[in-house]
Amino acid sequence: MFCKNCGNEMDPNAAFCVHCGAMKGVGTRFCANCGTENLMGGSVCTKCGYFIAPPPGVAGEQKSKLAAGLLGIFLGTLGIHNFYLGYNGKALAQLLITLCTCGIGGTVTYIWWLIEGVLILTGSIATDANGVPLKD
Ligand SMILES: [Zn+2]
Ligand SMILES: [Zn+2]
Repeated sequence: MFCKNCGNEMDPNAAFCVHCGAMKGVGTRFCANCGTENLMGGSVCTKCGYFIAPPPGVAGEQKSKLAAGLLGIFLGTLGIHNFYLGYNGKALAQLLITLCTCGIGGTVTYIWWLIEGVLILTGSIATDANGVPLKD
C-alpha cells in the first residue's frame, strides 16, 4: 500500500499518509499498489496495471460506453452524453448553444455531437470526466 499523493509506503490500515497527510486513496500521482510514479497521468499503472484514479468509493462507478455513445448520437444537442460522463462544463455549453438559438445552433452543430457519440462508441473517448474507463 503506497500513498497515491507522495508515493510513500503506508500502513494499509492507516487512514492518512504519515508523510504528507493525504487521505488514503486520494491522489493520482502514484500507484497505490506498487508505488510507481504515474508520469503519464493515466488511470492505470503502467508498471503493474493497478487502477489509479479515482479514489476508492468516489465516482468509481464505470459508465456504459454504449449508453454514452447512443446518448451522444440521439440527444447530443442537449449535451446529455456529457452530463452522463460528468463533463458538466462542456455539457452545459452544448445545452446553452441549443437553447439560446432556439434549437437552430443544435441543428447546425449536430454533426459535432454525432461525431462525439461515434468517438465514444469506437473507444476514442474511453474515459469519463473522472478518468474512469468506460465499460462495454
Ligand atoms: Zn503521502
Ligand atoms: Zn503499480
